[in-house]
Amino acid sequence: MKKLTENIYYIPHKSDTDRPVIGLVNGSKYSLIVDAGNSPHHAREIQKEIENIGVNNAKYLAITHWHWDHVFGIHYINLLTICHQLTDKKLKWMQKLDWDDKSLDERVASGEATEFGSSMIKKEMPSREGLILRNADITFESKLEIDLGGITCIIENVSGDHAEDSSIVYIPSDKVMFLGDCISPDSSSGVRIYSHKVVDMINKIMKYDVDTYISSHDEPEDKLELHKYFKELKDLEKLTKGIAGIEEAIERFKNEYLRDPSEDEIDTLQCFINGNLKG
Ligand SMILES: [Zn+2]
Repeated sequence: MKKLTENIYYIPHKSDTDRPVIGLVNGSKYSLIVDAGNSPHHAREIQKEIENIGVNNAKYLAITHWHWDHVFGIHYINLLTICHQLTDKKLKWMQKLDWDDKSLDERVASGEATEFGSSMIKKEMPSREGLILRNADITFESKLEIDLGGITCIIENVSGDHAEDSSIVYIPSDKVMFLGDCISPDSSSGVRIYSHKVVDMINKIMKYDVDTYISSHDEPEDKLELHKYFKELKDLEKLTKGIAGIEEAIERFKNEYLRDPSEDEIDTLQCFINGNLKG
């Protein structure tokens, strides 16, 4: 558990089994945890880390989106769980699914799940026997504000390509925003996709005054760094409008910026092309 600001702590992400960042917002009355961890084991580690820094007023758990690595620990964290209404719908659907190896393999074969996600689930939880999935206690339609005592959290649905239910957790007093995976492309089909949705999402995020952004599978980033990336995403979305091939996109980029695109920029261009092809 690392201290980020006066009231905010986080547990860094761990890529070997795709564990996302976990946040802790510490108010004088209550504390709120951001995301539940990706297994019962992970949830217990989170509880231990919170105990170790002497925080004993955890009351709320806010979920950024429905993907397994953010929600499998809900039952085990065992707090009042808050999420967007679409997230809750997905959680209820997930409760009906089977999570044994055979069922996972079948969903990968039919394209309902990705090979990456399935392999990470198996690695994090070699056995899923007795795994209990739970849905939320409190849902919201677009935005929710919680007073933790001396500190307020705003949870807002921002959508984007990665998941329609993606919500951010913003703490105005500390100018910190937990982003979940919202700025990542859609990778649910195995192909990475960006669309015009990314522009609406950026506009929703940019309404807030933020010094530090935390994406779930990355290190914290400062305002300058992330705003530069947002500008790049908006520019490349515009540049790739109506284009269906990467060669044409690169040509248009060279004409516009009088230089070759970097590898990262080519990667982003390809995501938007994939979005155009999907339609
Ligand atoms: Zn995700």
